[in-house]
Amino acid sequence: MPNEVRYRLLPTIAVCLFAIPGLQAQASFQFNGTDVRPGTKEHFTIKISDNDGNKAQVPITVFHGQSAGPVLGITAGVHGYEYAPILAGQQLINRINPAALSGTVILVQIANVGSFLGRSPYTNPMDSKNLNRTFPGNAEGSVTERLAHFISTKVIPRSDYFIDMHSGDAPEDLMAYSAYYQHDDKPEISKKGRMIAESMGYDLVVVFKTTTKDYMKDGFPSLYCSAEAFKQGIPAADIECGRLGMIEPHLVDKITTAIERTLISLGMAEGKIEPVEKMAVVKERLYIESEHEGFFYPLKSSGDYVLKGMKVGYVTDLFNRTVQEIHATENGLLLFILGTPPVNKGESVATVAVIEE
Ligand SMILES: [Zn+2]
Repeated sequence: MPNEVRYRLLPTIAVCLFAIPGLQAQASFQFNGTDVRPGTKEHFTIKISDNDGNKAQVPITVFHGQSAGPVLGITAGVHGYEYAPILAGQQLINRINPAALSGTVILVQIANVGSFLGRSPYTNPMDSKNLNRTFPGNAEGSVTERLAHFISTKVIPRSDYFIDMHSGDAPEDLMAYSAYYQHDDKPEISKKGRMIAESMGYDLVVVFKTTTKDYMKDGFPSLYCSAEAFKQGIPAADIECGRLGMIEPHLVDKITTAIERTLISLGMAEGKIEPVEKMAVVKERLYIESEHEGFFYPLKSSGDYVLKGMKVGYVTDLFNRTVQEIHATENGLLLFILGTPPVNKGESVATVAVIEE
């Protein structure tokens, strides 16, 4: 369009926009070659295959609001055995109303269907890769690397804000919390991530502090889904809610509520959110490792407050002989404790969260 014509049109467009109070013109949202009309939602099944004959599908729902606003990208099922966020995603299909939405939500229902249908904790049985250690992925790689590449190039860059939803995987007794990425070189993006994490309604917020100097540079591997979003300059938050691969309805509800609270805090939905009465911020996470393979016996549960030196569990060898006692290394909350017997040498059996004063 020649400049002259564009300048003549501008006042006309401006008049149209301001003529209808409270209603900003909203075009269709194009996703995967389809126009999603304002006030509607569309389901997509993305097919991804690799050179070894592995075939994956990614179910995605795009909710396009009646009026304009930001784009919120959400992923569930990056780990397919983490059922609480996956079930929350299923509920959100009917709970996010595009007619009342300002902006757009791209909800990846299950990022790793292979892990979900294969009932496989951590990894995709098709290529034995952990999707949440694979970002930004590779367009020419194995099926999991291609899944990561698809999310890195087709979902994350479309988003103004990004949330990755997890829970404790099959052996993980995990406390519910929200989290956000932080780097000193990106104070504004970090601050917006913190705003999202704090709006979700969890009484525990963890800072994913990235201190490596080159972290934000191209070529520094993001590995994690929401870390990739943060590296792309998008405020990024995580939900960790649910434990041991179980389905606990109140925790599924806590996730759907967290997303609804986020939509309100971003101005994408109407409503009022009650602030959390007492919110603790985790400034540091201390990992305690097993020095042996064998059995782990927890003596505490996630969410317990522990004191430095307190015994939280022990490890036995394959003949029931105690080979290691596990003690808390600092005062804090047990963010995670291994909840099932098998343990390998070098694995974390507990994480103590040190709370910001
Ligand atoms: Zn996970």
